[in-house]
Amino acid sequence: MKTEWNEECAVVGVYNAQNAASIAYYSLFAMQHRGQEASGIATSNGEKIITIKKNGLVTEVFCDETLNKLKGFSAVGHNRYSTAGNDSIADAQPLFARYDLGEIAIVHNGNLTNARQIRDELIKEGAIFQSYMDTENLIHLIARAKQENLIDRIKEAVLRLKGAFCFVILSRKKMFVIRDRYGFRPLSLGEIVNSDGSKGYVVASETCAFDLVGAKYLRDVEPGEMLIFSKNGMESQSIMLPNPHPCVFEYIYFARPDSRVFGRLVYDIRKNMGEELARENPVEADLVIPVPDSGVAAALGYSRQSGIPFELGIIRNHYVGRTFIEPTQQIRELKVKLKLNPIRELIENKRVVVIDDSVVRGTTSRQIVKILRDCGAKEIHMKISSPPTISPCYYGVDTPSREDLISAKMSHQEVCQFIGADSLSFLSVEGLKRSIGVENYQYCQACFDGKYIV
Ligand code: AMP
Repeated sequence: MKTEWNEECAVVGVYNAQNAASIAYYSLFAMQHRGQEASGIATSNGEKIITIKKNGLVTEVFCDETLNKLKGFSAVGHNRYSTAGNDSIADAQPLFARYDLGEIAIVHNGNLTNARQIRDELIKEGAIFQSYMDTENLIHLIARAKQENLIDRIKEAVLRLKGAFCFVILSRKKMFVIRDRYGFRPLSLGEIVNSDGSKGYVVASETCAFDLVGAKYLRDVEPGEMLIFSKNGMESQSIMLPNPHPCVFEYIYFARPDSRVFGRLVYDIRKNMGEELARENPVEADLVIPVPDSGVAAALGYSRQSGIPFELGIIRNHYVGRTFIEPTQQIRELKVKLKLNPIRELIENKRVVVIDDSVVRGTTSRQIVKILRDCGAKEIHMKISSPPTISPCYYGVDTPSREDLISAKMSHQEVCQFIGADSLSFLSVEGLKRSIGVENYQYCQACFDGKYIV
């Protein structure tokens, strides 16, 4: 049986807002990069919860008419990341259920590592599942928990879960926010001011959502923390012993550069990565060009540090979906060409440094080298602003299994040959640490060193 991961998705929660649905909508719009397959919002007016979700982009799922149906002072929302071969609407979020305490809607970003085991237990006990999502476990656990009130039931249920999770849970009157003890995935807390002067709250995977809805960033939700929003305001409880290991890949690829993630501006860190890359891997060349958009900030850093001019040598067509998730190799290769087009006039007869954020299967790099060669590049030096990806992620980033990770199965030389570049370099793990520049470095970088905390 296949279980579905909630990889890299975006979550949002809104409490005590005059138009909670609209704030959730714009937050999801700002976080569209975290998931493009499906989008959904559930709102509560205190009496009942209404949920609307559909496959598609935020702007395709919602219009004035649907948003008008979502009345209420609180909302949760979700963008679902596409994973190959599963586009069932049953796997879109929020997940809604009626149970003995009333109604509940849940959104989740992350991946539960013991989901299968819990699901099997629940099914043995007679539970009926409607989706492949690991998130559905939580609804069952809450419904079956022994405690009387919802807060205690949520705690009891959450304490059984392992892995990466950021949950936002809506009941008819309250909202609950929980981040796992490792804090793998980002989750921030912001404040909004309603037109009557009253205050409300927004929690979102990334702070770029706050910028769009005019929320003030207050702080990150702490690892192991539970926030409870009710008519009495916000209460915080530490429900799991914190052991922070935030995901370093958020800085490398996933988050938007204008977000503050784990307290740091992503753009700055990406530029630092480019500078480090230039220090560690100098080369004589005429141009530095980024693979748009993921390599842009690092390429600026590389150019600044090396003194080699920066040019937008490859232009991206923004109206093509992401390439990573296509099921077959053939389509993946075609889509790279659909998406990226080099400017021949810039590239012909030049020695170019090309910067991208990561190499996973090697498909993108190989295609890029090919299109640059076809444009007459004299030398192509591929530089990657992260270390080689050698291990899959079990905490919510969509990486393929080890046998598909090119750096896990080939030597550096072989990877360089496969992609067809004149040279290939990666940022070192030490360089990555320097780029982030914190004293007490505790990031999860299992994708680079294979050390799994859970
Ligand atoms: P690949 O072509 O398989 O080597 O994948 C590398 C490309 O995919 C790079 O251009 C990255 O920007 C991008 N990428 C890396 N990680 C992910 C991810 N988890 N989801 C989607 N795209 C990714």
